[in-house]
Amino acid sequence: MGDAAGHGATGNRRQALLINQEHARLLDLGRAQHLLAAHHEVHELMLAEAPLGEVLTRLVRGIERHADGMIGTVLLFDAETRTLGHCAAPSLPRSYVEGIDGSVVGPEVGSCGAAAYHGREVIVDDIEHDPRWRAFRQLARDHSLRACWSAPVLDASGEVLGTFALYYDAPRKPSAGELRLIRQSSRLAAVAIERHRVHAELKRLATRDTLTGLPNRALLVDRLTQALARSQRTGSEIAVVFCDLDDFKLVNDSLGHELGDWVLREVAGRLAAAVRPGDTVARFGGDEFVVVADGITAGGALRLAQRLHGALDAPFVHPASGEHAVGTTLGIALADAGVSAEEAIRRADNALYDAKRAGVPTRVYSHELHQRANERLKLHGELRRALAREQLRLLYQPVFDLASDRVVAFEALMRWDNPQLGSVSPARFIPAAEQTGLIVELGEWALRTAAAQARRWAEQGTPVTVAVNLSARQLLDPELPARVERALAATELSAELLIVEVTETALLDHDVLAARSLAALAALGVHIALDDFGTGYSSFGRLRRLPIDAIKIDREFVAGLGVDPDANAIVTAIVGLARGLDLLVTAEGVETPEQLELLREQGVTHVQGFHLGRPQDPAAAGALLRRDGAHGPS
Ligand code: C2E
Ligand code: MG
Ligand code: MG
Repeated sequence: MGDAAGHGATGNRRQALLINQEHARLLDLGRAQHLLAAHHEVHELMLAEAPLGEVLTRLVRGIERHADGMIGTVLLFDAETRTLGHCAAPSLPRSYVEGIDGSVVGPEVGSCGAAAYHGREVIVDDIEHDPRWRAFRQLARDHSLRACWSAPVLDASGEVLGTFALYYDAPRKPSAGELRLIRQSSRLAAVAIERHRVHAELKRLATRDTLTGLPNRALLVDRLTQALARSQRTGSEIAVVFCDLDDFKLVNDSLGHELGDWVLREVAGRLAAAVRPGDTVARFGGDEFVVVADGITAGGALRLAQRLHGALDAPFVHPASGEHAVGTTLGIALADAGVSAEEAIRRADNALYDAKRAGVPTRVYSHELHQRANERLKLHGELRRALAREQLRLLYQPVFDLASDRVVAFEALMRWDNPQLGSVSPARFIPAAEQTGLIVELGEWALRTAAAQARRWAEQGTPVTVAVNLSARQLLDPELPARVERALAATELSAELLIVEVTETALLDHDVLAARSLAALAALGVHIALDDFGTGYSSFGRLRRLPIDAIKIDREFVAGLGVDPDANAIVTAIVGLARGLDLLVTAEGVETPEQLELLREQGVTHVQGFHLGRPQDPAAAGALLRRDGAHGPS
């Protein structure tokens, strides 16, 4: 018996052990099954894009249901502050969660603080006697928590995302199965957190401008829509400020995109710092920013505009390339619940357009402005179709050589025959076409039409140079030299028979790029004339550097001859300047014989004006040419 009993005792122990093992195995199996079920649930929730807190709470509950009185938690790690924050702890008392929330991780900051700190598991089987729990011991005691096993939640590259932990109300070591459970749970938590982060990042990217980090156009419209809806309740107004950087394209084109990007980021930062906390600064696109300020008066909007201007006043100092001044023009619209976000933005844009045209820093949207904008839109729409409908034509105004009194060139001047508006002056539609970019198309048409006409005259035995006006926008088009070259090739016109006229102000405003375009045109053999000369402030030095053949004295000074002593002096100065630089001088807008005489005395070489010949159609111009006889290029 004793033997048997002895045997029995060992046997019993062995059996008990076996039963225990079997029990544990079954328990593990059960846990594994439940873990699997929890997995499924968690995955479903993730696919449904449930909030992260909800997903992880479900995970914790799934584990707790079959972990024998254990309490689970997931804490999130904030890498910036190096703290752990509460995320999911459905069974822990709030007072406990609040006690540990936001702790900075460290080797002695409980199991989770230590697990996150070391990036590995921290198993504390008796909180009462573990040095790592010193700071939180009383808190744990108050909530009858005696054991805490924590595993870091790691992303694919081993970075800590958070912790997963199980608490128990008595001192206890985890079984192998329980350890596995903790590890698997932390892995599942990692999947959920990483997925959530990717989604959050995607969402951020969809609503943020990647260059500046500001809200993008979509988020702007969203916020403005909300603000407008709020204003219905509060009765307050909302200011929409459209900001456009002056001549940003120039910075970009001449100094490079990298510097351009840098400027945009700096501008974004300054604008964002200039507004109140609740306001929105968004990047609308390119060099355009939009500021939305809630609950504001007209006076407040103007003060805001002043602040925005002030914010960009100081030059931008780049570590490598030095100082850059960036001006801005603002258009303001005040809106309330009666208008849509899109309409409010359009109004601010209209005000901006008007400010730019008027050359003023800020303009506020008004009803009158609205009507003008509508007219402009209509004009733009019709101008767009003018080319296809063949409503455009060129007239040719003769230019005479004062020495021989004969025609030596024609200036091609565009006319738009609009069925409703009649003959629209280029002074009216060229600026409109510049604004929309349509000028590039119109300009190309003018170039080809004039070149074809010049070629025809040459073929008829009366070769004559033809001058074509180029707008500032065309001058900035990097394709310009290629376009001119193609036009010459297509019409088989010799380059010496073509003059391009560029205005002095276009050159001055866009120094670097324009000079580059002119050099390329000169290399083709095309002549270059500086139009409306005297209205800008070209220096002798600058003129000498540009490949210019002729300057055209602005009509204004010719009109002042014999009347305004200043005009006389200016013409004398221009002629002297031209002589010094060996340039031809054409006087524009000669309307009287007296003016002609004075110009002759001044030493002007060429003249053009109503007194000598109006802009006329090709047939009339051709007749004039035949009358004067054939001439080569002057
Ligand atoms: P612009 O290049 O300075 O052209 C001279 C303007 O003065 C023309 O006006 C011409 O008709 C006008 N004019 C000529 N002689 C006299 C005169 O004795 N008295 C007066 N009062 N005016 C005279 P237009 O044709 O209305 O053109 C205005 C401006 O539009 C042009 O100034 C030019 O800058 C622009 N433009 C005309 N055609 C084109 C074109 O094909 N492309 C571009 N980009 N601009 C053009
Ligand atoms: Mg001209
Ligand atoms: Mg002119």
